[in-house]
Amino acid sequence: MPFAVTHVILTIVLVGLFRDFFMKHKFSTSFLVLAGFAGLLPDAGIVIDWLLAAFFNSSTSVHRLYTHSVIWAVLFAAIAVFVHFSAKKKQYNLFQYKIKKNSVVLIFAIIAFGWLIHILLDCMLAGTEHLTLIPGLPLTCPRAVSSNVLASFDAIILLAWLFWEQHKHRIIDYV
Ligand SMILES: [Zn+2]
Repeated sequence: MPFAVTHVILTIVLVGLFRDFFMKHKFSTSFLVLAGFAGLLPDAGIVIDWLLAAFFNSSTSVHRLYTHSVIWAVLFAAIAVFVHFSAKKKQYNLFQYKIKKNSVVLIFAIIAFGWLIHILLDCMLAGTEHLTLIPGLPLTCPRAVSSNVLASFDAIILLAWLFWEQHKHRIIDYV
């Protein structure tokens, strides 16, 4: 299974590179934090398993059962597309909050992307167990990467990312 940190870092790096290369209006770094969170979200079942074990002494596992399905990524992407085309105003008021349409679209798009990357990463690195296109329809995955490669995978991504950020944003100035 890929490490949690691999899921987080890879999603942040991909969304960050997309922002730096393709977006005309750069979105804030808090969306990159969301990307990291989204990359890990499908594994929320692990936390539920811990809680079940801790409070009910139960060994039932819900991890991967429902969350590791491509359909969730498609649904979140569909919400992003729907909001993009159906919301007429640039900004909405919800109680005392001002909510920007673009932020809502971005949030759902990032969750969709993080979810998809998570499943692809599990698919490449962890085998097919419980991975589905839609629940009940399994996804076929080649298990191509050995655990040695896996151990250094996140280190490579992290180092490459740090070099890129230093080159692009001079992050050393913030440390
Ligand atoms: Zn997973």
